[in-house]
Amino acid sequence: MALELYRKKRNFSKTSEPSGEASSKPSGKQPIFIIQKHAASRLHFDFRLEMDGVLKSWAVPKGPSMDSAVKRLAILVEDHPLGYASFEGTIPQGEYGGGTVMLWDQGTFAFNEKDDFESGLLEFKLFGERLHGSFALIQKKGDRKTWWLVKKTDEYAQKNSDTTLEFMTSVVSGKKMEEIE
Ligand code: MN
Repeated sequence: MALELYRKKRNFSKTSEPSGEASSKPSGKQPIFIIQKHAASRLHFDFRLEMDGVLKSWAVPKGPSMDSAVKRLAILVEDHPLGYASFEGTIPQGEYGGGTVMLWDQGTFAFNEKDDFESGLLEFKLFGERLHGSFALIQKKGDRKTWWLVKKTDEYAQKNSDTTLEFMTSVVSGKKMEEIE
């Protein structure tokens, strides 16, 4: 049920993305997060947090920022299967999300409080290979899909930095976008 929309949008005879089922159990001791760089019709970053057997997903047009003064628009999209956490490759043109997908960061995370997606405020620490420290996802009032991804002030925050330009390769394969393609 949870992934019905995910499956409906895709033709698995054409895309190599995982078809996937929602998982009845967590992937491990700590929930996982991933960030994928996705050169679809518009380049964006997909931010995904493991919650309730799926990857809750947001498309972040400008990608994450380590500057706590910067709010990054994050559009809630359909839940993805946990298997998506290892997907890197190229979705054929003409298919949903057609374009190259790079695994840009991966790791585990921990909610500061018990997670409560419906509250519209998620605060958590990332233990990634590239991103570390406290972040929040804040939902715009009265708008289910519009959220903001914000770095909270801590020892990992960096003023005036652009972390999306700092890391141009895959965190798993070391490849650049054009090499994955
Ligand atoms: Mn995407």
